[in-house]
Amino acid sequence: MRVLIVGGGITGTSLAALLARAGMTVDVAERRPEWSVLGSGITLQGNALRVLRELGVWDEVRSKGYAFDSVAIRAVDGRLLAEHDDIKSGGPDLPATLGMFRPDLCAILVDAAERAGARLMLGTTVTSVDPVRFSDGTTGDYDLVVGADGINSSVRAMLGIDTVPQPVGIGAWRVHARRPKSIERTEFVLGGPCYLAGYCPTSEDTIYAYLLEEAQDRTSLSPAEYATAMRELAEPYGGPWDDIKQDITGSAPIHYTWFESLLVERPWNRGNVIIMGDAAHACPRPSPRARPSAWRTPWCSPNCSATEARWTRRCSTRSWNAASTGPGPSSKDPSRSPAGRCTRDRTPT
Ligand SMILES: Cc1cc2nc3c(=O)[nH]c(=O)nc-3n(C[C@H](O)[C@H](O)[C@H](O)COP(=O)(O)OP(=O)(O)OC[C@H]3O[C@@H](n4cnc5c(N)ncnc54)[C@H](O)[C@@H]3O)c2cc1C
Repeated sequence: MRVLIVGGGITGTSLAALLARAGMTVDVAERRPEWSVLGSGITLQGNALRVLRELGVWDEVRSKGYAFDSVAIRAVDGRLLAEHDDIKSGGPDLPATLGMFRPDLCAILVDAAERAGARLMLGTTVTSVDPVRFSDGTTGDYDLVVGADGINSSVRAMLGIDTVPQPVGIGAWRVHARRPKSIERTEFVLGGPCYLAGYCPTSEDTIYAYLLEEAQDRTSLSPAEYATAMRELAEPYGGPWDDIKQDITGSAPIHYTWFESLLVERPWNRGNVIIMGDAAHACPRPSPRARPSAWRTPWCSPNCSATEARWTRRCSTRSWNAASTGPGPSSKDPSRSPAGRCTRDRTPT
């Protein structure tokens, strides 16, 4: 069976590794010229870690990332208000959560796909799926085409599916910073000027910290102004944030992205073309167990029969929780979205 995967993000590379290992001939077309992703962090819950273990990359992930089993809430001044064990959604033999640097995860998944035998075609855009055409003018012949091309999927549009992402009214600031020794798990502050202030360790030496605010058009800010704006928002937060603030500088990797929600009505396929990952469902909320949605469809795919009906039925019975995509606090006014999106970076999040 010949499979084309459009998009080499988390979904595309994970699926490529799983399908190639199952004996399929897999090509991945990725429009970026190199494997670059935002230099930020990612929080992986146990259910995502279980898939990474199935992919055979758990040891690498564990050694690069930072695992922990509890979660805490702090007051704006840094006082610890509550802490509890986190749910081990991947099973008792995996940590509840692991944070890691996104580019490290990307490198591990790309390597896994290549080792499994998938052919990765960088700098290649798919311009048509029926028939398959590539940006260099060549064509391809495949039994199955997977659109794993992200929330603004062009494969989705090529299938005639007109669902588009909706901003939920929340803008997320993220900075990758040094790990103060006191930060050993994800902790949240619910209060102060932001909807949420949080952080997650990504290695022995690093963390990523985030502030969620009412979405604003920040596209005109320079990197130095980014740092000033994020530092101002972080100012009232104490405790571990006192250390983090030192690293919110003009030279720090700071990103600002709007959260958007998307849920395409099933079926997610038209004939032998199917959409997966953020192309089909994207969860805007910082809700821990709702997050690892990128792995839901790649995980169920190779465990299903290739027939259209079983594939979509199996995917639909997985635990994707549409309710968790509900609007955020500012969704009352999605029209606040300026022309297009307020995402400074166009590379995957
Ligand atoms: C602010 C923010 C924070 C998040 N935090 C977390 C978190 O902590 N934990 C978590 O699990 N999830 C998190 N998510 C969600 C997670 O990032 C996404 O679910 C995941 O990245 C989606 O992966 P994907 O491969 O489906 O899409 P993408 O990562 O968008 O990858 C799509 C790929 O397709 C390529 N492409 C697009 N069109 C074409 C084309 N026509 N031809 C060829 N290639 C194409 C793109 O270049 C890209 O590489 C967060 C999301 C946001 C916005």
